[in-house]
Amino acid sequence: MYENIIIIPYRHREAHLDYFIKHTVPLFQKYLPNTKVVVVEQNDGKLFNRGAVLNVGFKEYQNKTKYFFTHDVDINPTEKCIKEYYVKEVDEENIMGIYTSKHNTLGGIIKINESTIHKINGFPNDIWGWGNEDKSLQNRAEFYNIKKITNMETFKDSESNEYILRFNDVDDRDKSNINQNWYNNYVLFNKLNNEQKKKLIMSSGLNNLEYTVIERKMIHDIVELIKVDI
Ligand code: UDP
Ligand code: MN
Repeated sequence: MYENIIIIPYRHREAHLDYFIKHTVPLFQKYLPNTKVVVVEQNDGKLFNRGAVLNVGFKEYQNKTKYFFTHDVDINPTEKCIKEYYVKEVDEENIMGIYTSKHNTLGGIIKINESTIHKINGFPNDIWGWGNEDKSLQNRAEFYNIKKITNMETFKDSESNEYILRFNDVDDRDKSNINQNWYNNYVLFNKLNNEQKKKLIMSSGLNNLEYTVIERKMIHDIVELIKVDI
């Protein structure tokens, strides 16, 4: 049983991953006992699907950890940030937004109980390219009355502050589905009644995720890489 599984959605961001492993993973080893970092790499061929990739991590470590983190590869916490936020307990009624956008979403870095992510059925599996999977997760959490503990201190809208070092966005996510994704998550969802919302949440997520593991290897003492086809 792990204390934390920190899942990194990943494809073609070698420089960011190298930096993360060199500078951030040693801090995890120092302050977060019994923690594993799991880099889930999406195979080439389809648009990047951040939600489904994170779902693979949740599925692989179901019942094997107390907490999950979802952790973008381009955001690095400082020692102060880890000591103040990463180590904090989070109960099953809450999700901690360690570094999420100021919009009401759950992207970037969050800490969530293992049971909570399964309760809300994870992310939808069908959001391809750049598109609001972070808002879908927020919608799902709200539906189940799970509150977001927002932490504005780490989120000052700059690339680095005393809590965070964030790389410039590569901004190479395909935006062709952005309008439809935006509409679905910001407009359509709010028009549904509770029964329809529940049906939608259960129509795509951890309960029907399909994937094939292509490769699995340790790339550092506490970092595993799982390459998948989704
Ligand atoms: N990501 C990746 N390869 C991609 C697209 C995204 O590894 O081609 C991962 C990476 O962890 C990244 C995260 O998904 O930090 C979010 O993507 P991005 O930083 O492009 O989005 P933004 O910060 O603009 O929301
Ligand atoms: Mn980014």
